[in-house]
Amino acid sequence: MLSVMDSGSLQGVDALPIQVEVNTGERGELRWVMVGLPDAAVKESQNRVFSALGNCGFTLPLSRTTINLAPGNVRKEGPMYDLPIALAIVAATQQASLAASSEFLIAGELSLSGALRPIPGAFNLALLAKKQGKRGVILPAACASSATFVDGIKVYGLRNLQECVELLRGESSLIPFKPHNLQKETPIVQDIGAIRGQRIAKRVVEIAVAGSHNLLLIGPPGCGKSMIAKCIPELMPPPTDEEWLEMLKIQSACGLEVDTVHRRRLFRSPHHNVSDAGLIGGGAIPKPGEISLAHHGVLFLDELPEFHRSVLEMLRQPLENGTVTIVRSNGKLTFPCRTLCVAAMNPCPCGYMGSRQRPCTCSQRQVQQYRSRLSGPLLDRFDLQLEMQPVDLSAFQSTNAEESSKTVRARIVEARKVQWEREHTCNAYLTAAQLEETCACSTKNLRWLQKACEQLQLSARAYHKVLRIARTIADLEKAEQIQQHHLMEAMQYRCLDRAWR
Ligand SMILES: [Zn+2]
Repeated sequence: MLSVMDSGSLQGVDALPIQVEVNTGERGELRWVMVGLPDAAVKESQNRVFSALGNCGFTLPLSRTTINLAPGNVRKEGPMYDLPIALAIVAATQQASLAASSEFLIAGELSLSGALRPIPGAFNLALLAKKQGKRGVILPAACASSATFVDGIKVYGLRNLQECVELLRGESSLIPFKPHNLQKETPIVQDIGAIRGQRIAKRVVEIAVAGSHNLLLIGPPGCGKSMIAKCIPELMPPPTDEEWLEMLKIQSACGLEVDTVHRRRLFRSPHHNVSDAGLIGGGAIPKPGEISLAHHGVLFLDELPEFHRSVLEMLRQPLENGTVTIVRSNGKLTFPCRTLCVAAMNPCPCGYMGSRQRPCTCSQRQVQQYRSRLSGPLLDRFDLQLEMQPVDLSAFQSTNAEESSKTVRARIVEARKVQWEREHTCNAYLTAAQLEETCACSTKNLRWLQKACEQLQLSARAYHKVLRIARTIADLEKAEQIQQHHLMEAMQYRCLDRAWR
């Protein structure tokens, strides 16, 4: 007898419909055949399904059985087909009538005892179920909560195979998951107000977030580079509905636990040993990498020169375009990665060059070697470059209250509003033509900037960066035109242009 269950396969961040067909009672020797481009993990599902069925009190088919995952031209990956295969066997061998199964999209990994294990992509599968007009999805309880963000379908998060059979026979009192309870207000965890001193660094962070400028922090160990970077996601305005759904799709596809109570922007901080695929995305069926997980959030690269050079070079294009494209022989996949990239590094191998605390013990050659790990074109992706100093001890004794993240964010929201109304994008993403239009300043100021650039021997690229940052500083001040003091401040935050070339 033939039985069919509807399931889905993750291709990047989208789920494609997959039909699991099981046919029993075929002629020929007793064995199982699995067809339909399964990978190793899918092939192993036979053994898991075998045990799970046996341990849940079902018998195995006593004749030749074919399992087909259709369509045959789509590669299938992972153990998510265990549950639909097991259910199709139960139905095909007429051990239970699972009449309701056509109303659901079903996926889940089975343990040998028949318990359900979480799978990635619960939210993506629920989106597919909605598109197909299904009544709901049946998923492992441990990962089903993110599916509740899809309106209009019922989400059943179940614990084991038996519960699934009972539900599909229509004799169960199981109730679907409650809709998510996303809160309107998200409390701030990493408050910038908790950081003492570092007035300039805080100012630069504010500018970076306001204009979405990538930021490079250079300073000795322990000066608070990571601490200040961790505050950045919560300085950004809360994600919009559209942004939130895009983020959910990526997080769910990567199997991350999704926060169902608060909308938070992610802070991703990959280790410097991360591979190309880990950072940019990849795999036989490409998965998003860290840069896409940081979509609408922050990608923090601590100890920037320690990353493999090839990995860093691969970052350049995605940071510029806001998307990653991964090409495979069977087509290409594109993932979004509009992220604010914040990098941190020591000024030299020992970490104390230019520090007031300790003398530097590096030779000039060592310093040069250390810095040459970063190519010019990569450093160019960082609009803002700041040399940080350790906090003065006097800052700890001061009784002045520091500004809270909430106060700073209010200014950032205003500045972003101005940019949105003007060009519908952040200043960091302005094209050359838009830049010329929006960064108009008086002839006197332009001449001043040109002269300053000549004196400091800055490149044409650096000149445009200064204009871009000055525009954001002016937006924070709600000034229509860029003034000279905006330009002067912007020039201070390009330390690499002066010292390193
Ligand atoms: Zn040193």
